[in-house]
Amino acid sequence: MKSIAVLCSGGDSPGMNCAIRSVVRTAIAEGLDAYGIQRGYAGLLEGNVKKMDVSSVGNILQHGGTILQTSRCPEFLNADIRKEAAHILKRKGIDALVVIGGNGSFNGAYELHKEHGIPVVGIPGTIDNDIEGTDYTIGFDTAVQTAIEAVDKIRDTAHSHERTFIVEVMGRKSPDIALYVGLCSGAENIIFPTKDETVNVDAIADDIKRGIKRGKHSSIIIAAEGEVEGMSHRVKEELNTKHGIDSKVCILGHIQRGGNPTANDRFIASQMGYHAVKAIIAGQPASATVQRKGQIFATDLKECLGKKFDVDPEMMEIVKTLSI
Ligand code: ADP
Repeated sequence: MKSIAVLCSGGDSPGMNCAIRSVVRTAIAEGLDAYGIQRGYAGLLEGNVKKMDVSSVGNILQHGGTILQTSRCPEFLNADIRKEAAHILKRKGIDALVVIGGNGSFNGAYELHKEHGIPVVGIPGTIDNDIEGTDYTIGFDTAVQTAIEAVDKIRDTAHSHERTFIVEVMGRKSPDIALYVGLCSGAENIIFPTKDETVNVDAIADDIKRGIKRGKHSSIIIAAEGEVEGMSHRVKEELNTKHGIDSKVCILGHIQRGGNPTANDRFIASQMGYHAVKAIIAGQPASATVQRKGQIFATDLKECLGKKFDVDPEMMEIVKTLSI
């Protein structure tokens, strides 16, 4: 093992730079050559690979985004294309690959390992906190913090005008951002629209009316963006036409992906980058760094190829209890 490369893939998340810095510096400290691949798997296929030194990752850990940039690369689902990627890695003298990304990126890394024997490590980097096998993914804390600050501001105007707001947060197939933001911002309700379930607008309306009766001046409903586009606007429409409740929709969107990573994201990303390199040096063939019960370590990548979608019923119960 002489050299390793690192890339970011899929959606970006705050804290990716901390992980890049940690991978590069740990590798160099261990006597390895470190390479950065620009623009994810797409950049790998273009041979967009550059040698990284200690100072190339200086002054980056506090910044959101990723200095290596990221991309989605549908071609990588094709085995022939992955074969080409494996050849490029060999030609460039790269012995192992660290992939910072979400569940899709992990699957790409696993295929590359299975088919071509390249040692790989996945570092979970996604704001959605939805990767199987780890309690935490880098970027989640920052995204939640950004959304909470936005909802606090919305609450000011909602209270002044005695309004109901439906605030849509990110997490297309993952409930965690909505759940945490709902609890931490004192939301009256949280909705998780999925393809198979209709949102119970009657129940939401009952809650709002009960709140008004007991003297509440505003209601905030947090909506996970869900798989069905425009759901928040449909809820608004039904609240108005069926229940006579006027509301505003605010979609937070991509601001949740940006910004300086929080202490927690820096803390975890720095440790995961370190453990990723250590796993490669220890000869683990395909691994992922995870956090479980507060411990950070590298485990078998196969444990982390799935996506989780669990709405913790107890958390929902707490949200409802505290918003009476
Ligand atoms: P994320 O990694 O954030 O979940 P995506 O699901 O979009 O984001 O995946 C990122 C990239 O990973 C895809 O554009 C593709 O290049 C690669 N990828 C995803 N799934 C697979 C798969 N099953 N096999 C090979 N590569 C995959």
